[in-house]
Amino acid sequence: MNSLDLQKHVASPDELKGRVIAITGASSGIGRAVALACARHGANVILIGRNASKLEAVHTEIETAGWPEPIIALLDLEKALAKDYDQLAAAVLERYGRLDGLLHNAGLLGAVSPIEHYDVPTWCRVMHVNVTAAFALTQVLLPALKKSTDASVIFTSSGVGRRGRAYWGAYGVSKFALEGLSQTLSGELENITAIRVNTLNPGRVRTMMRRTAYPAEDLNSLPLPETVTGPYVALLGPATRGVTGQAFDCQ
Ligand code: NDP
Repeated sequence: MNSLDLQKHVASPDELKGRVIAITGASSGIGRAVALACARHGANVILIGRNASKLEAVHTEIETAGWPEPIIALLDLEKALAKDYDQLAAAVLERYGRLDGLLHNAGLLGAVSPIEHYDVPTWCRVMHVNVTAAFALTQVLLPALKKSTDASVIFTSSGVGRRGRAYWGAYGVSKFALEGLSQTLSGELENITAIRVNTLNPGRVRTMMRRTAYPAEDLNSLPLPETVTGPYVALLGPATRGVTGQAFDCQ
């Protein structure tokens, strides 16, 4: 399945039925929209985020719609310690016995600034949240992913993670790192597990992050998060079984 097919894929109503799918940054923006789409297509969603009240609002939306009940996992990717990751992994195994999907969606923009003047502590925060936390969460959840018969791991990329762009600093570099992590991990897991690993670039979407990055942009010119969820569902579901080590675009 190539990128174009991913965009054209039409998911059946129960495309993700019975699948257990964890999503970071499920509290707002694209993560929230993908969490709702996964639940609508039958998945048991694990809503991972740092803001309890925002996650509860998403939980309520899913519950009210009558979709499979999600669970909330509080995890601040900037502050979480090894024991917090271990607790989450243990809770997933105890409740579901496996994990079928892991979407690394949470992200920090950091500063838009030339490398010459880039603030070093900001650099470290962005690299930690965007890369190191995604690595640590994947590592700790691998035992649960290995219990699935068809598991999909997705790292969220960006145009600036595929081709470097001036002033995008740690954010762009972190997305390049995720492309490398995805390729490395997919190579390690291919043939010996049923876990596939890919990157997905949502393209320009109307969210807080986009607004911060482009404050002067006309918001109405940007697609809503709800309009880009199709490729996420396709990449998390049976349509892309066996597809690994690739870089996809939503738009
Ligand atoms: P938002 O700012 O709307 O969402 C970012 C999400 O990450 C929020 O849920 C936020 O939680 C969460 N997050 C940030 N820091 C932490 C942390 N320390 N711990 C836990 N969660 C955290 O942005 P988008 O929806 O636009 O971004 C989603 C992904 O898409 C990102 O990886 C981004 O890089 C990528 N992307 C977005 C594009 C766009 O045009 N919007 C373009 C290309 C890529 P909280 O709600 O608590 O703030």
